[in-house]
Amino acid sequence: MIIDCHGHYTTSPKELDLFRQQQVALIDGGTRGTPTAPKISDDQLRESVEKAQLKFQRERGTGLTIFSPRASGMGHHIGDGAVSEAWAHVCNDLIHRLCALYPENFVGVCQLPQTPGVPPTNSIRELERCVKEFGFIGCNLNPDPSGGYWKDPPLTDRWWYPFYEKMVELDVPAMIHVSASCNPNFHATGAHYINGDTTAFMQFLTSDLFKDFPTLKFIIPHGGGAVPYHWGRYRGLAQDMKRPPLKELLLNNVFFDTCVYHLPGIELLTRVVPIENILFASEMVGAVKGIDPETGYHFDDTKRYIDAVKTLSEADRQKIYEANARRVFSRLDKQLAKRAA
Ligand SMILES: [Zn+2]
Repeated sequence: MIIDCHGHYTTSPKELDLFRQQQVALIDGGTRGTPTAPKISDDQLRESVEKAQLKFQRERGTGLTIFSPRASGMGHHIGDGAVSEAWAHVCNDLIHRLCALYPENFVGVCQLPQTPGVPPTNSIRELERCVKEFGFIGCNLNPDPSGGYWKDPPLTDRWWYPFYEKMVELDVPAMIHVSASCNPNFHATGAHYINGDTTAFMQFLTSDLFKDFPTLKFIIPHGGGAVPYHWGRYRGLAQDMKRPPLKELLLNNVFFDTCVYHLPGIELLTRVVPIENILFASEMVGAVKGIDPETGYHFDDTKRYIDAVKTLSEADRQKIYEANARRVFSRLDKQLAKRAA
């Protein structure tokens, strides 16, 4: 089975957007309170994914998507903790319903109710709810809830530790994933996302986080941002700082996905990063939607690139497509067995 570890629900019915608009309008009007939850039928949910995520799964021959709410829609900079919590609830509930409708196609990963300047305590609650009640197998952790202004402590600060303790207890990894950019200097998916990935890696490199949490696991999406391309720089920086080699320092804990939208990028990724640390992903539908005129295929059809890398053995491909995801998302096997029973 081919497991796509990075897919978002970017095709939700308009009722979800209306809920969010009402929520924002209440904040702008200085009112506290939550709009009533959107009414969305199962048919609407089916319709929203049949011609999008499911169609691409079928066409591309990928089996299961590790599925989370739309990342750019998380908008952690909007409102306070209560607003983010209500929004995360609504979004995660929809993912849960889709996983129940399509148990062979989706398994859930949750959005967290983060807020700038607020320790991630309510995120602990939501993570627990999604893992224990819904059978989700991970979360998306935003390293910069301010949306491009980086106001909170680095991911390696003790500020985040209570949340990591819960991740370790529940045995779930986090994908490092920023949301929308509020800073006009940074285009969201073109700059802010890649900055977030690269910044998180450098934070890990300079800290002893994984000494404190030897089993904590992070996936850095979008192929690791600029990291694989600059692997020599990071190895050299670690050496200059008298840090251990990268393999020892963080490769038991940090993984990279394959959301890199051309063959030379995937070739570089698979040459530089150990195969054990690479998880198949496409981030469909949405980050880049179009068809590459040079190939005639969608940019985000990443399976084609992995299939085309000549230096990969079949055993390597099996690890990238399936085995690594099962190892990193350690609750996945149990969750799938439960569904099959
Ligand atoms: Zn994403």
